[in-house]
Amino acid sequence: MAEPEMDTLIDQVADLILDAKRMVVFTGAGVSTESGIPDFRSPGGIWDRYDPEDFTYQKFISDPEGRRKRWQMFQEGYLITEAKPNPAHYAIAELDRLGRLDCVITQNIDYLHQQAGVPDDKVFELHGNKQWVVCLSCGQRYPLTQIKARLDQGEEIPDCEACRGILKPDIVFFGESLPREVLLEATSRAYKCDLFIVIGSTLVVYPAAYMPEYAVGRGAKLVIINLSPTPMDRQATVVIRAKAGEAMSGVVKRVTEKIGG
Ligand code: NAD
Repeated sequence: MAEPEMDTLIDQVADLILDAKRMVVFTGAGVSTESGIPDFRSPGGIWDRYDPEDFTYQKFISDPEGRRKRWQMFQEGYLITEAKPNPAHYAIAELDRLGRLDCVITQNIDYLHQQAGVPDDKVFELHGNKQWVVCLSCGQRYPLTQIKARLDQGEEIPDCEACRGILKPDIVFFGESLPREVLLEATSRAYKCDLFIVIGSTLVVYPAAYMPEYAVGRGAKLVIINLSPTPMDRQATVVIRAKAGEAMSGVVKRVTEKIGG
């Protein structure tokens, strides 16, 4: 059977949004690739150039070489501070303005949902936020921009200016727990929603990937907008295999038309 046309799929998603009482949007690295931030698993993504084994919390704190590599990786991708929200982020913020968004649960640390206009208290960042760097010894916090300036000047392993302790971006590393309050609230929102929209995630990173499972387990409808297949595609009411920016702009346009905007 032929795949449905993109317009048909977009129309279906718009109807699901209009029928929903509580819609949760769940995003991964793929929602930000159109802002120039590479994802992890796509060809040319971060894991094509680095070995994930090098990036555990344990390795970061115990091995200066692990820290050097991690800071280098951050400088190449994660720390692109000039990245701007793209049409997908703006479309999600527009759904909020239209009164359709319960919250965004994101695996991203790039702060682009908030920059696009989603209020801070509606964004649950499961893996932290890259705005800050923290000293693991004395707890001193530094704005990322300050540490990035040191890296740009050639420092390879920045340390704490106050106590020379180890500096770590205030984000969740492999082997580290997720922020408890955020995880609890995100879990509760996933359980309570009746529509769960995944945008730009492979759905293989746990515990984040439990969120759509919780939602579907409680009867929510699932929409997946992702360039490559995910393990939950078969449980989705609609799967759109397209770029997030294009698909989400289309969805918001359709929603606006349908409500007579
Ligand atoms: P991932 O890298 O595993 O997968 C990204 C998915 O997005 C892929 O399936 C890919 O096909 C899809 N994709 C890429 N560009 C797309 C686009 N324009 N439109 C639609 N789909 C697109 O990402 P993940 O599942 O989020 O998990 C990786 C982990 O990496 C997460 O834990 C996240 O914290 C972290 N991460 C975050 C950022 C960021 O903050 N921007 C960037 C890289 C990785």
